Amino acid sequence: MTHTGRHFLQIPGPTNVPERVLLAMAHSTVDHRGPDFAEMSLEVLDRIRPAFRTSGKVVIFPSSGTGAAEAALANTLSPGDRVLVFETGWFSHAPWRTVAERLGLVVDYVPGTWRRGASPEVLEQRLRDDPSQQIKAVIVVHNETSTGVVSRIGELRKTMNRVSHPALLIVDAISSLGSIDVRHDDWEVDVTVCGSQKGLMVPPGLGFNAVSEKALRASRDARIPRSYWDWEEMLKTNTAGFFPYTPATNLLYGLREALRMIEEEGLDNILARHARHGSATRAAANAWGLDVVPEDPQEQSNTLTAVMMPEGHNADRLRQLILDRFDMSLGTGLGKLAGRVFRIGHVGWFNDLMLAGTLSGVEMGLHEAGVPHKSGGIVAALNVLKSGSQREELAPHLQSQSG
Ligand code: PLP
Repeated sequence: MTHTGRHFLQIPGPTNVPERVLLAMAHSTVDHRGPDFAEMSLEVLDRIRPAFRTSGKVVIFPSSGTGAAEAALANTLSPGDRVLVFETGWFSHAPWRTVAERLGLVVDYVPGTWRRGASPEVLEQRLRDDPSQQIKAVIVVHNETSTGVVSRIGELRKTMNRVSHPALLIVDAISSLGSIDVRHDDWEVDVTVCGSQKGLMVPPGLGFNAVSEKALRASRDARIPRSYWDWEEMLKTNTAGFFPYTPATNLLYGLREALRMIEEEGLDNILARHARHGSATRAAANAWGLDVVPEDPQEQSNTLTAVMMPEGHNADRLRQLILDRFDMSLGTGLGKLAGRVFRIGHVGWFNDLMLAGTLSGVEMGLHEAGVPHKSGGIVAALNVLKSGSQREELAPHLQSQSG
């Protein structure tokens, strides 16, 4: 079928890239060891910090999020170290569990149902059961992109402090940063890991590690072999605006523009916008009579909604029909959720009408695919979008995520 108009890219990342960012990346290639580049990258290295809510260092790699995950582990840990990885969904398994095991770490994979976030109670028990403090790191995916479940990092940190356990806290904020509240300093996260392709509104290709002082100290003794991912060399050259190897120059121009846009809109306003869109999408799913994956309303993601199909109906068939008929991409179900859920991305450079269009495409798709559902999803979502005072209503949700 020939399509006209814009493709709707409603997967939970990579996300839609604003024209301003695309134009900024259309920059002629520069000397990455010259003064113009250094001026630009110093601005980026400075402006990136508020996005992580940190006054500390943020390392930027030319990599995907998986590379940044590997960097977080390789810089802070040694072969044979024990780490706790909470099973939250597909992404806790890959990259985290898989990469950790390949690097020679001993992974305690804390079982989960994929419908709840990492449990502070379970964490407390695991840490109390470790009096000799063999656990060197606790690893949590903040916003599990395969399920739309958000873990309460602030509460997990409080738990670690309450039992005075010295493990590092490593957090995957790949699909939350710049869209759901992430507080690297307040939550005393040791490494916050991110990628450029979701809330930061830049194409894939940049990986981030926000690094605490404690993580920097750990890196001095960490023995997992590392070269490309080494923070020390990176931080040394970054002070003058340079990188130890050729950086992704044009993506960095894009990132600078995206960070300017984030500053103009204001991070709190961006979080509130995502909260409204999350709420409106869940209202639509509820009105359709379809379940969402998260079981606890406190843990529902504002960047994506994973919608469960009625028994006997395949989510990928629905997605294919919506792609063919309406030229809209929705996220596929991953791992054990393959075929059972479709994921609606509402993250990044996005607005009310884009959401209304997205939900209309879903509702028309449900109808055409013969998936049993009630009508009224769009109206329910529009009612949320129309009401001006969502901020107050959603504040507890934001607070719960900040623990
Ligand atoms: N962690 C989370 C939460 C993700 O959403 C993703 C990718 O979507 C990854 C890790 C892996 O990142 P990448 O595919 O950029 O390597």
